Amino acid sequence: MTKQVFRIAIVGGGTAGAASALFLARAGHYVTLFERVAHPEAVGAGILLQPTGMHVLHTLGLLDEILAHGTRNDRLFGTNSSGRTVLDIHYRDWNPSTFGLGLHRGALFSVLWNALRCHGIDVRTDAAVSHIQQTQNKAVLYRDDETIGEFDGIVLADGVHSILRDALSIPQKVTPYPWGALWAVLPDDGVTSGTLRQWFHHAKQMLGLMPTGFAYQQLTQPLISLFWSLPVNTADAWRKEGLDAWKNTVRELAPIDAVLDHIRSADQLTFATYADVRMKHWHDGRVVCIGDCAHATSPQLGQGANLALIDAMILAQCFSEGADIPSALAMYSRKRKDHLRYYQTTSKWLTPFFQSHSRLASGLRDLALGPICRAPYVKSEMARTLSGTKSGFLWGSLHL
Ligand SMILES: Cc1cc2nc3c(=O)[nH]c(=O)nc-3n(C[C@H](O)[C@H](O)[C@H](O)COP(=O)(O)OP(=O)(O)OC[C@H]3O[C@@H](n4cnc5c(N)ncnc54)[C@H](O)[C@@H]3O)c2cc1C
Repeated sequence: MTKQVFRIAIVGGGTAGAASALFLARAGHYVTLFERVAHPEAVGAGILLQPTGMHVLHTLGLLDEILAHGTRNDRLFGTNSSGRTVLDIHYRDWNPSTFGLGLHRGALFSVLWNALRCHGIDVRTDAAVSHIQQTQNKAVLYRDDETIGEFDGIVLADGVHSILRDALSIPQKVTPYPWGALWAVLPDDGVTSGTLRQWFHHAKQMLGLMPTGFAYQQLTQPLISLFWSLPVNTADAWRKEGLDAWKNTVRELAPIDAVLDHIRSADQLTFATYADVRMKHWHDGRVVCIGDCAHATSPQLGQGANLALIDAMILAQCFSEGADIPSALAMYSRKRKDHLRYYQTTSKWLTPFFQSHSRLASGLRDLALGPICRAPYVKSEMARTLSGTKSGFLWGSLHL
C-alpha cells in the first residue's frame, strides 16, 4: 500500500505545535506551521519534564541536548507551616532509573525551534489565524478575510486561550481557576538540590522552588524557578503591597533568604493564570486539538508540556495508520482518551487541596497525605502518576 502524504497546517508554535510539526514532517507530510508571534523568543518559567516527555524527545533525537540544559529532580517534597511532611514522592519508588528534569521553558522552545529550522519546515511567524472553514475535501485557514492556505488537515495547538476551538462542533467547557501563580527564574545557589521543594500554609499559601537547569546555551549559570500561589483577584493588591511585604510573608513560611535576595523588583515576578479545558473528544472532521488548547489543567501535577509532547507523537502515529484524515483524527481521540482523562481529573481533584481557602481540604491533606506517601503500594502509584505514565485510577498504563 502506498503511504499517504497530506498537507497539514499546524496553528501555534508552542511545545505541542512545534513537536507535532517535527513528527509529521519526519513522516513525510507537507507541514506548514503558523505562529501569531512575529519574533518568537525563548521565554518562560521552569517546567518539570517527566519520563514520558523525555521519551518523546528521545524519539525526536533531541533528548541529549535537553538533558544538557536540565537539572535532575528526584523527589517532590512538601511540608506545612508546622514542619509536617505533607508530600514526599520519589521517582525511584516507581522505577529506580527514572527522574524528573527541571528545565527552563526557553531551553525547550529553542531546542524545538532549532529542529524546525534544521528540518526546513515551513514556519510562518506573525501569522495569527482568525478562523477555519471545512469542506468535504479540505480545510481552509483565514487571517481576517484573507485566505492563508488550503490543507488536508489542521492541528490546533494554539494554547489554552484558543480563539479557534470555540467554533468547532465539539462539546467543550473552559473553566478558569480562581488561583494563579507568581513565578520567577533566578540563579540557583543549590538550596534544594535534586528536589522540587514546596512549603504550604493551609491551602492558601504555597511556595515552590524547582531546580531548573540552564537558559539555552548558557550552561555556566544554574537556575531555579520560584512559584508563589495567589488568588487571581488579589494580583493587583499584591503589587500595591510591595515587594518587602511579600518577602516577609514568604520568610515566615520558608527560610529562603538567599533566593529572595535575588529578587530586587516586583517586575522579576510574572503572574500566570490557568484554566481547565474539557472537550468531549478532540477531533472535528479534518481538525484536531492538541496540547493546552485541548486539555489545559492547573500545573499542580507538572504534566502540561509532557501531555503536549505525547499528543504530538500519537497524532503522527494516527496519521500513518488512519485510512483518511477524519478517521485518523477520530482514532487519535480514542487513543488519547484514557490517559488525558486520568490527568485532567486528577489535576482538577487535587488542586483545591493546594490552592483554595478551604481549611477542610488542607486539614485532610496535612493529616492524610504524608502517611499515604509512605504506604508501600500507594507511594509507587503516586510516583507513577507524577511520571506521567498512568491512564486509569486502578489500572491502565500509557504505552508509547
Ligand atoms: C505557572 C505554570 C507552570 C507550569 N509548569 C509545568 C510543568 O512543570 N510541567 C509541565 O509539563 N507543564 C507545566 N505547565 C504547563 C505547560 O506550560 C503547558 O501545558 C504547555 O506549555 C502547553 O503547550 P502548548 O503548545 O499546548 O501551548 P502554548 O505553549 O500556549 O502555545 C500556544 C502557541 O500558539 C500560538 N497561538 C495562539 N493563538 C494563535 C493563532 N490564532 N494563530 C497562530 N498562533 C497562535 C501562541 O502564540 C503560542 O505560541 C505550566 C504552566 C504554568 C502556567
